[in-house]
Amino acid sequence: MQRIFAIEASKHIDEQVKVCGWVSRRRDHGKVIFIDLRDKSDLVQIVFAPDLEPEVYQLAEKLRAEWVIEVIGEVKKRPKGMENPKIATGSIEIKAKKIKILTQAKTLPFSVQTSGYDISEKLRLKYRYLDIRRQRLQENLRFRHQFINLIRNWLSERGFVEIETPILTKSTPEGARDYIVPSRLEPGKFYALPQSPQQYKQLLMVAGIEKYFQIARCFRDEDTRGDRQPEFTQLDLEMDFPTQEDILRITENLFKEIIEKIAPEKKILQFPFPRITYEEAIRKYNSDKPDLRPNKSDKKTLAFLFVCDFPLFEWKKEERKWGPMHHPFTRPKFNPGETMKDVIKRINKEPERVIAHQYDIVLNGSEIGGGSLRIHESELLEAIFEFLGHKKEAIHQKFGHLLEAFTYGAPPHGGIALGLDRILMALRGENSIREVIAFPKTGDGKDLMMQSPAEVSAKQLKELHLEIKK
Ligand code: ASP
Repeated sequence: MQRIFAIEASKHIDEQVKVCGWVSRRRDHGKVIFIDLRDKSDLVQIVFAPDLEPEVYQLAEKLRAEWVIEVIGEVKKRPKGMENPKIATGSIEIKAKKIKILTQAKTLPFSVQTSGYDISEKLRLKYRYLDIRRQRLQENLRFRHQFINLIRNWLSERGFVEIETPILTKSTPEGARDYIVPSRLEPGKFYALPQSPQQYKQLLMVAGIEKYFQIARCFRDEDTRGDRQPEFTQLDLEMDFPTQEDILRITENLFKEIIEKIAPEKKILQFPFPRITYEEAIRKYNSDKPDLRPNKSDKKTLAFLFVCDFPLFEWKKEERKWGPMHHPFTRPKFNPGETMKDVIKRINKEPERVIAHQYDIVLNGSEIGGGSLRIHESELLEAIFEFLGHKKEAIHQKFGHLLEAFTYGAPPHGGIALGLDRILMALRGENSIREVIAFPKTGDGKDLMMQSPAEVSAKQLKELHLEIKK
């Protein structure tokens, strides 16, 4: 017999069905045993009456929470007054005929019936595979799937092509520390995990792809701060021949579609999203990510905002030098009539006054993404690296591939990247991004379930020509 899901049972009234799942709750009412059986679709009530065959009834008596069972029985309308309007299957129940215990379960370290907010997060992360059984996380992960599906389809319909870029790569400066991976075949050399696919997506523009996107995993070895994860997911997007407005419009239209289709209970405060300059943001709100909601505790309202025209550089106090405000591939704004030579001169003369074609997107006071129009001329890019204090030789060693690529007919291009975990957190009304990630790490970068990071064997170290200094 084909298994059906709990939610489908009401379509089979007075028929025999087979359901499988977990024992969510068991209640004994005199001689009648009630089980709430849980599967991915819902809960359904199973009834074991005392007039069952004794072996079946005895098995039912043994059942405990979280045991995995298979039940064959007849779907019945519940007697009048016994319906449970709180669950979707509340108008029916299944009168068991046969039961199979597929696996037993030890007592769980915590309840999976509640929202879970009151349980120690360490414990939840250690037993994440149990934690995910709770309805809230089930819903968050299923929502995440819908969200990513929608993004994929929406962009594909508009001619964007999803392309995977390497994870074993060379460092791309996004301002954080790299995770590095030693090479076995070339002792002493290392790959870096991408802080973002930035250089690859720009190279795909040189390659004539014109419209690229990727649901991309990014890795940044940063110090802990509340909601950061060592690895996180971006919607990464790039296009050829864009104006800044083209990119902002695609972004806001995508959000509009997402909210309308999968989060209709939310309200976008202003559409099109307001656009303000960095200078204005600082002057008016003393922040480059102001929260425009009239009522800050309102989780229903989504106040999006584009902050544009960031300075190209910022003074790095600790290192006592200029650094890129975003990343070094960001395009400076040319003044009317200015040539590239003029811009390079201006950069070296008054770097603090150079404005960039850079924009951030802010949601309810948190930065959820950013992007820019890019430099596509090797001369300009090289001049900026030199201004940032890199020696010519080092520039070519690190970025030679990009500089060379730009000499073979590079189109003007630009893009944006959106932090999907943060956006999901806002759409689900969660207070931590860990609630929308299946297997997140702790604030200090540990995976408590897999126990990583972990030591590796002496043999592995030897193969990599590595020694651990004690
Ligand atoms: N790569 C940038 C980032 O991760 C986004 C972009 O400029 O497109 O912040």
